[in-house]
Amino acid sequence: MKLYNTMSRRIEDFIPIVPGHVSMYCCGPTVYNYAHIGNLRTYIFEDILKRTFENAGYKVKHVMNITDVGHLTGDGDDGEDKMEKSARETGKSVWDIAEFYTKAFFRDEEALHIIRPDIVCKATDHIQDMINLIKRLEEGGHTYTAGGNVYFSIDSIPDYGKLARLSIDDLKSGARIEIDSNKKNPKDFVLWFTNSKFAGQAMTWDSPWGRGYPGWHIECSAMSMKYLGEHFDIHCGGIDAIPVHHTNEIAQSEAATGKTWVNYWCHGEFLLMGNAKMSKSSGGFVTLPVLEEKGYNALDYRYFCLSGHYRSQLRFSYEALDSAKAARQGLMDRVAAFKSEAEPSENPGAVAEGYMKDFNEAMENDLGAPQALSILWKLVKDSSVSEADKLAVLYHMDRILGLGLPEAEKKTETVGTEEDLKLLKERAEAKKNKDYKRADEIRDELKKRGFNVKDTPSGAILERIV
Ligand code: AMP
Ligand code: ZN
Repeated sequence: MKLYNTMSRRIEDFIPIVPGHVSMYCCGPTVYNYAHIGNLRTYIFEDILKRTFENAGYKVKHVMNITDVGHLTGDGDDGEDKMEKSARETGKSVWDIAEFYTKAFFRDEEALHIIRPDIVCKATDHIQDMINLIKRLEEGGHTYTAGGNVYFSIDSIPDYGKLARLSIDDLKSGARIEIDSNKKNPKDFVLWFTNSKFAGQAMTWDSPWGRGYPGWHIECSAMSMKYLGEHFDIHCGGIDAIPVHHTNEIAQSEAATGKTWVNYWCHGEFLLMGNAKMSKSSGGFVTLPVLEEKGYNALDYRYFCLSGHYRSQLRFSYEALDSAKAARQGLMDRVAAFKSEAEPSENPGAVAEGYMKDFNEAMENDLGAPQALSILWKLVKDSSVSEADKLAVLYHMDRILGLGLPEAEKKTETVGTEEDLKLLKERAEAKKNKDYKRADEIRDELKKRGFNVKDTPSGAILERIV
C-alpha cells in the first residue's frame, strides 16, 4: 500500500506499527447543522481508504469523534461555540441539536454505504480524558493561564507548525483580526475555557481551572490516544484542518508524550461549488437529502466522488452528477443482466484475475479510484470474460467501491418507448419466421436508437447503451 503523507509531502510505502493492523483516526462532524456534501466527500474518502486496507488483508481499527462541544465559529479561538449558536437560533437545547444532527449524519453515512467506524466517540463523553491530558501538559510546562482560560504555549516546543510547514513569519503574525490579548504568542490556543465571551454557555464541566469547557483541538488528541494509543498509524481529515486543527493536535499530543504521535497524515481535497470550497458559512451548500429530493440516489454521489482522485479538487455541478448517475445506473443494469445469466464463479479465470489485480494495484497506489473505475468498465465490456467471472470480480471490487453491485436488480420498469418495444416484438416474430435479414435490420435500428438487444432465456430485452 502506498499513501501520500502530508507530513513528508511524498507518496510513501505504508509500514504499519503492528504488522497486519491499521489504527486510523478521522476527525468527525461538528453536529450543529447538516453535513454538506463537501464534508461527506471527506468521509467517503476515509471509507474508501479503510476498505482498501481491509481488502489488502489488514485489520483496521477506525475511530471517529463527534464534536458536540467546543468548536468555535473561528478556528483561532474566536467567535462563538457552533453548538450554542445553533441552539440560540433554533430555540432548542444544545443536547437536542447534537442528537438531531448526529442522527441525520448517520442516516447520510448509511445511505452512502459508509461503514460505521469501529468506535464513534462523543466529545461530551470524554471531558475527563481531556482534563487529564491538559493536566499532563501543565505538568510538562506547556501551558499558562490567562484571563481565566488555559492556553497551550507553542513556544514550549521546538517544532510547532511542522505539518503545515509554517514559517517563522507565519508564527509571529496574528492571523485573525480579533487577537486574544491573553495570548503570549498569537498562535497559542485554548485548551480549556472558563471565561467564555458568551455568557450562559449551557455545556460546562468542573475542572482544576474552574468550571468551563474544552477547546476544540484537545478532544481529538484525548480521544484518539484513548482508543488507539499514544502512537498510531493514520490520521485523516479534510485539507482545511492542516494549518490550525491538526497542527494544534500534533503540538499538544507530542508535547504530552514526548514522541511522534501519528505516522501518516492523509487529507482529502475540497469539493468545490463554483470556484470556492463548499462551506456552511458561505451559504451555498448542498446536503444529501437535497440531492435525494431531486431524484438522485445517495450512491450516485458516491460514484461521483469515486470519479475524482481524493487529492484533487472536485467541482460539484448537477450536470456532473447526472453523468455519474447515468454511469452508475448503466453499471447496475449490466450487473443485473450478468446476474440473470450466471452465478459468480468460484475460481475466475486468468483474464478476470488480471483485472482484479490491476484494480487492486490502482487502489493500493494512493487510492487511484478513477483509474480503478476505468479498469472495472473495461472488464464489464470485455466479451472474452464470462458473465460468471465478471460477477465474481465485480463483487470483489465492490468490497472497496461500496456501490452495492451484488444488490443490482433487473429493473422492472421497461426500457425504451412503446415504439422501440414494438420493434423488439417484430424482431422476435421475424426470428421465429427465420427472417434473419429483417431481424438484423431491426437490431441495427434499435442500436441507432441507443439500445442493445439482449437475448435471454425468457426472451429478448433492450439494454440502454452506456
Ligand atoms: P466540520 O463538520 O466542519 O468539522 O467538517 C467535517 C469534515 O469535512 C472535516 O474533515 C473538513 O475538513 C471536511 N470539509 C469541510 N468542507 C469541505 C469541502 N468543501 N470539501 C471536502 N471536505 C470538506
Ligand atoms: Zn480533529
